[in-house]
Amino acid sequence: MNVPRPVMQAVSGVPADNYGGKRPTRPTHITLHHIVGDAPAALARFRQPVGVSSTFVIGSDGTIYQVLPIDTIPYTDGNYRSNLRAITIEHAGGHPTVPYTDAMYNASAQLCAWLRQEYGIPESNILLHRDVIDRTAYPGGTACPGALDTERIKRESTKQLEDEPVIRDLDNEYWRWNKLGIQIRGRDLTRDEFRASAVGRTWLNALEILSDDPEADNATNDQNTGSRASNEKWLITINRLQAERDEMQANLVKANQRIDALQSELEASKTNTATAIETATKKAPTATKSNWFVRLVAALMPKP
Ligand SMILES: [Zn+2]
Repeated sequence: MNVPRPVMQAVSGVPADNYGGKRPTRPTHITLHHIVGDAPAALARFRQPVGVSSTFVIGSDGTIYQVLPIDTIPYTDGNYRSNLRAITIEHAGGHPTVPYTDAMYNASAQLCAWLRQEYGIPESNILLHRDVIDRTAYPGGTACPGALDTERIKRESTKQLEDEPVIRDLDNEYWRWNKLGIQIRGRDLTRDEFRASAVGRTWLNALEILSDDPEADNATNDQNTGSRASNEKWLITINRLQAERDEMQANLVKANQRIDALQSELEASKTNTATAIETATKKAPTATKSNWFVRLVAALMPKP
């Protein structure tokens, strides 16, 4: 098991009368509550001397507030015997203007998974306020935790205990997730978006959320259009280069033909020159001899 400890924000200023000191035993169960409002309302109340508190409070934005140390008895369940062994969690929501949010559910699933791992708490020991309240002290009981989807929290916490590691609210996890977001959606994603749709989920689940979105489809279309344009640009360049290569090859053939022609001409001209020289050399002495011979004979011949 490798569920990481969630990021928690410590809360101070809670009067000592709102909780019961150190537990005599380890906690054995988790009790789920809802605020019927958002976290600030619950925290403000717990800072008043009202005789109630909660181990944890989870806000609409997924912030986990740790109000009491886990080994401290919370006064939350309306049942002292339950409080002795309960880690209690108040959830934002249950009010017309404060809906239960995904960020809150994700944070709760992550917190429950981690607590269950640390204290060996089975899913069956995630209890609801209305099921543990002391009916003798509170004959009317309570509706708490209202319409909070407690099955979702149980199911997702169990999944986290069984599954691969989940995304945590850490800078490097956000950085990795945002990098994927830029690739899939074509823009930077905010830390709030990260908390709402990635924190507490597996990477596969977060990827599904990132890609299963109209924005992601648009980004993919843009990318495809972009790559088509880019392909066309490259085709034009490739065609141009092929044309240049063909032209160069044609020129090369022409150049070779010219070289051949010049070489032939040179050979021909060499032969002609040689012949001409040879002819001239052969003829010249003969001509000279013959002139001299004619003149000598003429000189030696007795004059008539
Ligand atoms: Zn409650």
